[in-house]
Amino acid sequence: MKQHTQSQLLIWQPLRRADCSACILHKEAKTVCNLGDGPVPCDGAVLGEAPGFNEDQHGIPFCGKTGVFLRRMLKDIGLDPRKLFFFNTVACRPPANRQPKAKEIKACSPFLFAQLERVKPKAVLVLGNAALRAVTGKKGAITKAEGSIVRKDGVAYVPCRHPSSVVRLENEDSYLFVLQTFKENLVIFRNILYPKKDRLYAVPEDAQERLPKC
Ligand code: SF4
Repeated sequence: MKQHTQSQLLIWQPLRRADCSACILHKEAKTVCNLGDGPVPCDGAVLGEAPGFNEDQHGIPFCGKTGVFLRRMLKDIGLDPRKLFFFNTVACRPPANRQPKAKEIKACSPFLFAQLERVKPKAVLVLGNAALRAVTGKKGAITKAEGSIVRKDGVAYVPCRHPSSVVRLENEDSYLFVLQTFKENLVIFRNILYPKKDRLYAVPEDAQERLPKC
């Protein structure tokens, strides 16, 4: 199992509140105030919605099936996930993985923005509606914002559907189409971080076989 390094623990120690009760999400979470994972500072960050079951169990963002899938897709388009910072809009797992509510996102925003301040990313891949709204104020479906870049306070935010919605489609006819759209967003993110790697991308034929089996 992946573990936080000692230096990551030291970075977050002053910020983390393991006894936080600022919103109702702490009540059912195993890991309260589950902060980000990755190098600090870091040019590229990936912002999800909320910890899922595995993330809650292990106290690390994006360590479950969706995280494995996302890391593989990032590698496929030429990004090293070890050089990215992964974190979530709310830091405690919502019951039954429901979407975090607006008041929970607001309550957790000091942790979100404190992490952004320390990580100082140039670009953030923003996964899902809740994450997009939290960092840019934009409302509405993430699928309408895909393909664009929202620039705010010197940071380029790249809207992208959540990888869990792609993983869920793995046996559907629309899977390859959705996967292609998903990867095009990752490429936008990559090209902000590494403008010279501006190459064309095609979904590999064996993409479905390469999904994580976990
Ligand atoms: Fe505190 Fe954030 Fe957890 Fe709510 S989600 S209890 S604000 S750490």
